Amino acid sequence: MFDRASVVTPGGVNSPVRAFRAVGGTPRFMVSGTGPYLTDADGREYVDLVCSWGPMILGHSHPEVIAAVQEAVSRGTSFGTPGEGEVALAEEIVARIEPVEQVRLVSSGTEATMSAIRLARGFTGRAKVVKFAGCYHGHVDALLAAAGSGVATFGLPDTPGVTGATAGDTVVLPYNDLDAVRAAFAAHPGEIACVITEASPGNMGVVPPADGFNAGLKELCAANGALYISDEVMTGFRTSKAGWYGVDGVRPDLMTFGKVMGGGFPAAAFGGRGDVMAHLAPAGPVYQAGTLSGNPVATAAGLAQLRLLDDAAYAKIDAVSAELRSLVGDALTKEGVAHTVSAASNMFSVFFTDEPVRDYDDAKKQDVFRFTAFFHAMLAQGVYLPPSAFESWFVSTAHDERAVERIAAALPAAARAAAEATA
Ligand code: PLP
Repeated sequence: MFDRASVVTPGGVNSPVRAFRAVGGTPRFMVSGTGPYLTDADGREYVDLVCSWGPMILGHSHPEVIAAVQEAVSRGTSFGTPGEGEVALAEEIVARIEPVEQVRLVSSGTEATMSAIRLARGFTGRAKVVKFAGCYHGHVDALLAAAGSGVATFGLPDTPGVTGATAGDTVVLPYNDLDAVRAAFAAHPGEIACVITEASPGNMGVVPPADGFNAGLKELCAANGALYISDEVMTGFRTSKAGWYGVDGVRPDLMTFGKVMGGGFPAAAFGGRGDVMAHLAPAGPVYQAGTLSGNPVATAAGLAQLRLLDDAAYAKIDAVSAELRSLVGDALTKEGVAHTVSAASNMFSVFFTDEPVRDYDDAKKQDVFRFTAFFHAMLAQGVYLPPSAFESWFVSTAHDERAVERIAAALPAAARAAAEATA
């Protein structure tokens, strides 16, 4: 299948990390998913710790989500008109996340962050955007500028195809460094439209904000007339009922959502302060639109999933995450492998270093070759981890005792493989 895919699709995939290039080997083509398990085209079953990169927080094929989708599909798949499902999903988001007074639905996290920064620029009349190295906000041109020593400061594009003109208004700073943010505001007075940050980053591995970092960002933005945008595409409705806002309580001006809120379908959103959202077309002048925005099937799936995510569900996910973190840590310690299990609520990842990881540069110092060995040993024993040392691991309410036991049984050999790996 991968050979076939490689003929008709660049690299054989429709999103790069899926190609296994970071770990080597052939990506698995999955044909079905049930609860915490995935089954590949060769009939092998895996305990899934990727959960579609976050969305499948109830596990695969949850009966109530599937039923909601089937009911919606039976009425038609897209109308291009307003519909009740999108209103209900928006109401659910507004009810859960207090700083969100109004929300606009889109189809991907990328669209959400792209639209949020356009709105911030339109609202403030300013051009520059501050982002942090190692934070991923989708493949928005202006947000692809990432770390890269001194050149990053000048917002040089990180990928061919993003022009200097586009990236020139992006200021990239080291994560968890409020002094750098202060200096950026001082260097660009009256020019910064917004600071966008992952509410708690999961795209350089899991690197939570230091105490007071998000609050400091909010304060600096407020003092300098810029908007504070919290990207909760990954953390939203996952790290608590109200996402990371429910954990740290720092009130953003705008927020972005995706993944969990779509229930496995392409649904995402951005929202926040009513006076800012009022600038969005057709209420205001900042244009934003989408043929499939608020799609009835996607909104039915998202709503069904969110309605099942009550306190008990989060308690269960948190408990499974804590159990797995301790099992992984114990197995690596037993084999003498230097590591740090880094967690933000129930999101976690393993850095193969015992040095503290506070930003992207720290994250890159880990022994990636040990992760690679660990990954393949787990895969061979039927545990599907993210195929990169720089991604969060995700669990679901469906990860029961049997699934945890299967992971536990695979860990000793994987920890040994990590110990024996050479660069
Ligand atoms: N923002 C964050 C924090 C993400 O983790 C991602 C995707 O992983 C995105 C934005 C982009 O979302 P999408 O892949 O739906 O475009």
